[in-house]
Amino acid sequence: MKNKKILVLLLVLAMVFSFAACGESADNGDADKDNGAADKNTEIPTYIAATEPTFPPFDTTDEDGNIVGFDMDLMNAIGEDQGFKVKYKAFEFDALIPTVQAGNAEIITAGMNAEDPERQAKVDFSNTYYDSGLVVIVKEDNNTIKGIDDLTKDMKVASQIGTTGADKVNELHDDGKIKEAVILNGFDTCMLQLINGDVSAVIIDQPVGKTYLKKQPGKCKIVGDVLNAESYGFAVKKGNKELLDKINTGLQNMIDNGTYDELFTKWFEGEE
Ligand code: GLN
Repeated sequence: MKNKKILVLLLVLAMVFSFAACGESADNGDADKDNGAADKNTEIPTYIAATEPTFPPFDTTDEDGNIVGFDMDLMNAIGEDQGFKVKYKAFEFDALIPTVQAGNAEIITAGMNAEDPERQAKVDFSNTYYDSGLVVIVKEDNNTIKGIDDLTKDMKVASQIGTTGADKVNELHDDGKIKEAVILNGFDTCMLQLINGDVSAVIIDQPVGKTYLKKQPGKCKIVGDVLNAESYGFAVKKGNKELLDKINTGLQNMIDNGTYDELFTKWFEGEE
């Protein structure tokens, strides 16, 4: 008798649970539908932005491996202003333009010099957002190299693949001024080679060099004058005028409303 009661109780409980489960799944279904409708009403496009994240403070990674930097904050602010979201993906620098040309990313956010005719033939650049230039970096205790003219035929010099710095290093090699152009995948690897004594100098963008020296004090130094003038722009696939217009309008709005200055302080002056 007692057992029967327990059995009935169990059956009742089972029924209650299965009704509850039905109710729940029905609710979920409705909730999904609601969410879908909400998404449709406020449809925000998400674009993929390609970057090379060994270029702080423009493009780097945080402790959790997320891609962060001045470029990301600025592009996110532009997207918020212009009604799009951005997801960042890492590539080697020389793969950025082919990736956008192939349609595997919509935007390049990579501290990329926009004033390069070869690049301009392949992608469309936004208005520029940062003026930069290349510098020579040597080890702190190097007293012979005081500028680019002190690089000699017995020296190896490193820079990052696909960059204007690599163009410069290749040019020095082609002109017979250095022994070897060491072209590496990341800026961080160039600096490791310098610190290890595998190369005599690294040619890199001034703001990135300065940021590195601040973070790793006492190891290396910038020597001589800035070698050239370049200006960074964001890039889109050739002919993607709609997105380029949004980026340019958003960029101007961020300059006008002070967001650009805030981000500049955050990434360039707030650092120790
Ligand atoms: N300014 C350089 C260029 O445009 C380097 C950019 C970078 O390494 N992210 O080639």
